[in-house]
Amino acid sequence: MNSLVNIHSRNAKPVKELVAISGKGGTGKTSLVASFASLANHAVLADCDVDAADLHLLAGPHVIRSEPFTGGERATINTNFCSVCGQCQDLCRFGAIHLNGPGNMVFAATYQVDPMACEGCGVCAWFCPNQAIQLDPAINGTWSVSDTRFGPMVHARLGAGAENSGKLVSLVRTTAKQIAEERQMELVMIDGSPGIGCPVIASITGVDLALIVTEPTPSGLHDMQRVAELTRHFGIPAAVCVNKWDLNPEMSKTIEAAAQERGLTAVGRVRYDPAVTEAQIQEKTIVEYRQDGSAADIRKVWRQLRQRLSQSLSPFGVGQTLAMSPAEQVESVSIQ
Ligand code: SF4
Ligand code: SF4
Repeated sequence: MNSLVNIHSRNAKPVKELVAISGKGGTGKTSLVASFASLANHAVLADCDVDAADLHLLAGPHVIRSEPFTGGERATINTNFCSVCGQCQDLCRFGAIHLNGPGNMVFAATYQVDPMACEGCGVCAWFCPNQAIQLDPAINGTWSVSDTRFGPMVHARLGAGAENSGKLVSLVRTTAKQIAEERQMELVMIDGSPGIGCPVIASITGVDLALIVTEPTPSGLHDMQRVAELTRHFGIPAAVCVNKWDLNPEMSKTIEAAAQERGLTAVGRVRYDPAVTEAQIQEKTIVEYRQDGSAADIRKVWRQLRQRLSQSLSPFGVGQTLAMSPAEQVESVSIQ
């Protein structure tokens, strides 16, 4: 492995992990993560939304290392040895084997594995009477380490229809944490996968704080409740932020009340702001683009989150706080 991620400092500071999650995509979670990264200026970014990664669009990474991701196995048939007995097709529960392969010396057509449908269970290889089937490591995507204007970033892309996204998420998180330890950085900021499935569980397991980002709609309430249940199940401290809250103030109140009933903290609201799109067109975060509007809301949310993370540092050092970035120090002076 590259020394970038392979060296552990013996005197490494405790690294905190903050993850932003949502019950579904499109809540503005990634825009918030990029803004927090801009404000923090001392975090390693980890894009764990590997099925639909888009943090790179705002972070503008310069890739310094990229590797294939192998997860699971995939069957292939050596058609020269296939006697067209059809056992493999009968046994494959995933319908991945079809009589559409090239002919051999004896048969006009042979069996062939559809790599998109193969789950790598190995049953066909086990029962093939001619040992014509082999299992090879499946390349399911790529993962990369990059430099960004916010700091280092670990990101990945899962191949279309590829499985094992939970394993890839774990790889991204582990690498990001190793980089943070090596560079003496205090925080890993994770853009988690949406939903409540395996990749989300891999995104949140063991983090110090989960920020649930939701929208003021009935489905936003439902999604928040599902994700909150997931964090409760795994014992993860969680907080809630309603994005575009002013589109439905009553529903925003309902969501925050439901969050408090579950013991979650509402760490602030972010208003709807057309300037977010303007900023994205210029490949900037809203906090780089504007000071007012939703940018001011996001700064408030970030201060709350930093406070929560600093409190969670206390077991490692009484009075220890998460360091402010130069931009935050200037801002805190102007606030006082
Ligand atoms: S089980 Fe083996 S020999 Fe039989 S059809 Fe499948 S690949 Fe060919
Ligand atoms: S490895 Fe399993 S899923 Fe893949 S083709 Fe063979 S039986 Fe089907």
